[in-house]
Formats: sequence, C-alpha cells, structure tokens
Amino acid sequence: MARTVYLNGEWLPADQAKVSVFDRGFLFGDGVYEVVVAYERHPFRLEQHIARLAKSLVEVGIENPMGVHEWRFVIERLISMNADHHSSIYIQVSRGSSETRTHNYPVGLEPTVFICSQKIALSTKATVDLPPCSAITLQDIRWDRGDIKSISLLGSILLKKQVFEAGSDEGILVRNGLVAEGTASNIFIVVDGVVKTPKLNDWILTGVTREYVFELCRRYDIQIIEADISLNELSESDEIWLTSTTSEIRPVISLNGMSVGEGCVGSLWKKVAVYYERHKSELFTCGS
Ligand code: PMP
Repeated sequence: MARTVYLNGEWLPADQAKVSVFDRGFLFGDGVYEVVVAYERHPFRLEQHIARLAKSLVEVGIENPMGVHEWRFVIERLISMNADHHSSIYIQVSRGSSETRTHNYPVGLEPTVFICSQKIALSTKATVDLPPCSAITLQDIRWDRGDIKSISLLGSILLKKQVFEAGSDEGILVRNGLVAEGTASNIFIVVDGVVKTPKLNDWILTGVTREYVFELCRRYDIQIIEADISLNELSESDEIWLTSTTSEIRPVISLNGMSVGEGCVGSLWKKVAVYYERHKSELFTCGS
C-alpha cells in the first residue's frame, strides 16, 4: 500500500500526489525544507524544527503557510497515518508555481507544501551503540548561505558523491582553511578534554542536534566552546563527532585514512552519547 503524504492541505497516497511542472521548487530549487525524526511516533524537538523552518522561510521571502500549531498538527497526523515505529519526516516548502519562467519571482504565489515520512531503522539502537564512521575533508563548494535550509542541494550532492567514491561516510567541509560542517551534519572536536565546534555563521546550519549537544554538555559540566577550527587542529584532535537529526551523534574514528585520536570511539563521546539517549527518551515523553 502506498504511503500517505501531505500535499497542499490534502492527505494522499504517495503515488497520487502531483506537483506542477512549473513549480519553482522543480524549476529553480526555489524553496526550503526541514527534517524531523520521530521515535516511537513522537517527533523529537519538533518546536525547534518548526522554528528553523520559519527562519528559513523568512530568509528567502516565502510567507509561512502555517502557524506553529498547524505545523505540529499536520506533522503528528502524518506520523500516525503511516504508523512507522521510527520515522524521518521531510517538510518541503517551495515558492509555488507560476506559468511564466522567470528568475524574478512574482509576489503572492501560493507556496507548495509537501510532507512525507519514511521509516528509519537507526533508532532501534541506543545512541551509544551507533557504529563509528570515517570522514574525508573536502573544499566547501556550496553557496554562502548554508544557514538557510535550502532545497537547492546540488553542492552537497556533488560533495557526497565524492565521499562515497572515496569509500568514506561523510565529508567535512573546509572554507578559507577553517572547518565549517559536514555535508549533512555539524561537527565537534575534542582537544585536551574540551569540546569545540565552529562558531555559527552564514555558511553553517544551526543544527537542532548541535543545540542539543550544547545543552547536554552544559548540563553535565563538560566544557564546550565555539571557536574557529583549522584543518591542522582537526587532524590532531582527540575525537571528532558529527551530529544530525537522522544520525544523532556519531564518532569519527578515521579522517582522510588516518586514525582520529587512538583510532577508536572516544571516552567523551561515549559519555555524551549515553546522556543523549537518556534525555532523548525523556524529551519525547514530555512531547518536545
Ligand atoms: N548541516 C547540514 C548541511 C545539514 O544538512 C544538517 C542536517 N539537517 C545539519 C547540519 C545538522 O542539522 P540537524 O541537527 O538540525 O539535523
């Protein structure tokens, strides 16, 4: 049976959901998106994702088609309709369609809203049991507004292709000699017991998981700072972690084919992963 999706106010089997060929999302990648994960059908940090979606929409001048409560209602309904134990929910909002192809967008278009969910297996494991991964460093070729969660993902897609061709799991992107983020994740390093992550700027997405890791470190007195990270510092760090909604917090044990730290999962990562798991369940039972 086809999965149910949400399209512009309607609940439809996925194979019956149709978007115009003139949709600006299709023609220009003119839109933004969000990804939320639901554990045991409870969306995790939904408020934060809805807030980031609102921010992306403001940044690109698309009117927010729904208020917070309406977003929450629609997302929760979609989760219950598809009945997956754990799922990721993709929310896509494009500027809408107009039959004249023009870069200069007409005002007053009706945004296209599409939401779908897919089953994930990831969270059947406790965070601390997630497998470690490898990474390579790559020059960041994406545009200068990585803080907007744009559906124009061509830069990330081409980079990810290089990552897979190199037999690696993730690319760590470097701009002007400084570490920015992963192709689809934020980055943390550990140096002498201190956790460091790049300061937010226009090139970096304000990761919902990044914020969560900050909360955990503060709560458990783990020193965490925002600072520039050079390529050298990255290569010499004791631990590297990557964070994202769908992959949670993953330890990187190999960088450009060389061991990170002692080449195994770091002790600070283990600690934070245990806290992550513990509070993840607390948070979703409280409905946030
Ligand atoms: N940076 C980029 C480029 C991403 O695509 C993602 C994944 N959404 C992240 C960071 C991590 O963000 P979050 O923790 O909100 O998933």
